[in-house]
Amino acid sequence: MTSAIAYALHQASGRFEKTTIERRELGPNDVRIAIAFAGICHSDIHTAREEWGTVRYPLVPGHEIAGVVEAIGDAVTTHAVGDRVGVGCMVNSCRECENCLAGEEQYCAKGNIGTYNAVDLDGTVTMGGYSTSVVVNEHFVLSIPEGIALDVAAPLLCAGITMYSPLMRWGTGPGKKVAILGLGGLGHMGVKLAAAMGAEVTILSRTAAKEADATALGAHHFVVTEPSQLRSLRSTYDLIVNTVSASVNAETYLSLLRFNGVLANVGVSPEPLSTRFSPLAQNNRVLAASGIGGIRETQEMINFCAAHGVGSMIETIAASQIDEAYDRVVASDVRYRFVIDASTF
Ligand code: NAP
Ligand code: ZN
Ligand code: ZN
Repeated sequence: MTSAIAYALHQASGRFEKTTIERRELGPNDVRIAIAFAGICHSDIHTAREEWGTVRYPLVPGHEIAGVVEAIGDAVTTHAVGDRVGVGCMVNSCRECENCLAGEEQYCAKGNIGTYNAVDLDGTVTMGGYSTSVVVNEHFVLSIPEGIALDVAAPLLCAGITMYSPLMRWGTGPGKKVAILGLGGLGHMGVKLAAAMGAEVTILSRTAAKEADATALGAHHFVVTEPSQLRSLRSTYDLIVNTVSASVNAETYLSLLRFNGVLANVGVSPEPLSTRFSPLAQNNRVLAASGIGGIRETQEMINFCAAHGVGSMIETIAASQIDEAYDRVVASDVRYRFVIDASTF
C-alpha cells in the first residue's frame, strides 16, 4: 500500500478535510499516477450532497484527473514512468460483456466502476482525484499528448468526453446548427468542441451575463432562454445538447429542433424530463441521453483536442478552496471549470 494525501468529505453537510488514504499495491496491470490537477465536476457536488442517493463516506471525489505516471506494474505495456496521463469517471468494468467489448465500458452490463464512491473488484471503495496519487488499471488510463497542458486537460476527462460523444454521435460538423444549453463546465467544452468540428454554434443561457465570453469560446450566436428570444428560433437546430444540472422544459427545447433534430441530454437533473407526444413527433425529432464515453472514444477526444488546440477554460484553486468552489459552481459562478492544484493537497 502507498499512502496518499486526500481531501475528503465525511457527511453531506460537512466541509472538506485533509486526510491520508491508502492506495493499493500495484497489480501487474496497474499504473500509479502522481496527480497534478483534478477538475471539479457538478457531478462531484450532486454526489457529495447526496442529491443522487446515499454516499459511502468518507468521500474523496474527483474524476477529472491529470498527472504523470510514477510507477507501473510488471505487465503494463501501454504507459511508462514519466508519461502524461489522465483518468476520467471509471476505473474498471467487466471487460467481457458486449458493451465493454464494443469499447463502451461506461455501459458495462455489470455496471462500470466509478472513480469514487463505488465498490471496486477487490471490495474496496474507490477514492477519486482530490488526492496526491491514484492507482488505476492501465486500460482506464488515458494518454495526454505533449501539446496540451495538464491543467487545461483535466476537465476533458469528464466534461470533454461527455460533450464529444453526443456531438459525434449526432453528426456535428460543417453545415450543422448546434446549440448548447447551459454554459458551465460541460457547456463551455461543448461550444469549443462543436466549433472545432465546424458546426455553427449557439449558446443558450439563462441570462446575458456570459455573453461576452461566447466569442472567445468559439460560439457564433448567444441567446438568452426567454420566451421572447426563443419564439423566432422554432425548428432551427439540428442538435441541442442540454447540459443543465436542474430540470428544464423539454418541450421548449424540442420545439427549437428542425426536421430530424435531436435533443441530447447530458445534464442530470434529479427531476424527470417529460414531454407530450406531439412536440416529439413533429419534425420526426429525437430525445436522447448519454453518459460520458468509452475509453477508446475518450482517447480519440483528447487527441482531437490536442490537434485543435482545445483545452478547458479554467480557474485554478488550492485545496483549501474546494468548499467555496462548490458553492460557486451551484451559483453558476464558474468560468468555466475549477481545477484543483494537487501540489496544495
Ligand atoms: P455546471 O458547471 O454547474 O453547469 C451547469 C449549467 O447549467 C450552468 O452553468 C447554468 O448555465 C445552467 N444551470 C444551472 N442551474 C440551472 C437552473 N436552475 N436552471 C437553468 N439552468 C441552470 O455543471 P457541469 O459540471 O457542467 O454539469 C452539468 C450537469 O451535467 C450536471 O447535472 C452533471 O451532474 C451532469 N453531468 C453528466 C455527465 C454525463 O455523463 N451525462 C457527465 C458530467 C456531468 P447558464 O448560466 O448558462 O444558464
Ligand atoms: Zn463529471
Ligand atoms: Zn462489461
